[in-house]
Amino acid sequence: MMIDTHAHLDMQDYDEDRKEVIERARQGGISHIISVGIDLQSSQKALELANSHDFIFSTVGFHPHNADHVDPGDLEGLAALTGEPRVVAWGEIGLDFYRGWSQPDKQREAFEKQIDLARHCDLPLVIHCREAHEDLLEILKRKENGPYQGVIHCFSGDYKLAMNLIAMGFYISIPGTVTYKKAVQVQDVAARIPLERLLLETDAPFLAPVPKRGKRNEPLFVVHTAKKIAELRKIDYEEVGFQTSQNAIKLFALPAKQ
Ligand SMILES: [Zn+2]
Ligand SMILES: [Zn+2]
Repeated sequence: MMIDTHAHLDMQDYDEDRKEVIERARQGGISHIISVGIDLQSSQKALELANSHDFIFSTVGFHPHNADHVDPGDLEGLAALTGEPRVVAWGEIGLDFYRGWSQPDKQREAFEKQIDLARHCDLPLVIHCREAHEDLLEILKRKENGPYQGVIHCFSGDYKLAMNLIAMGFYISIPGTVTYKKAVQVQDVAARIPLERLLLETDAPFLAPVPKRGKRNEPLFVVHTAKKIAELRKIDYEEVGFQTSQNAIKLFALPAKQ
């Protein structure tokens, strides 16, 4: 049993063979895929995919890269989609000062507004954070109102930060980069945080794990990430699959069997 908690199946990278990619995941034992939105249009597309496949679920959100272009009508559009039963989270939202494709102030503003909206419709958060960890903590602490429900996806911080976020209620999602030789920090996090707080993801089409590194990523490749984590923690691969699946089912309130 294995869940890919973060993929972008709506992206044009899959326009040629989306059906085959989804079928490979199903055949390969991926029980659920969460297809994540990055703006209004992609959130709508992700929902269409979720509505037409019994093991796909979707999210709504404005990625920090797109924060410069968020207008109130778009946020209302996202909020309207949350009434759909297959929408399981709000994201991905957050801060990205690495690429800096949107202004930092616009990113902060869009992030805070969407935390409020997610809370209003009682959905967990899918948070993206790159080179903005101090700002992330500042915003999350200021807006804290009991334990958070959510995940820090594609986690790129250190063990101490991971434990800080776990104490606030978050799960930590480990991507395929954990299989990269030089990724010592994410390997350390994946080896040491409580397994009850760990999620698996591909972030497909990006960040394909070894042995697929450099190629287009897809949900089935999450198995390579699980194998690496099992190796790092010196536990069975099945245990990694089982426990991380239980975690995802709990956080996103997914139906247990597909
Ligand atoms: Zn992201
Ligand atoms: Zn993503």
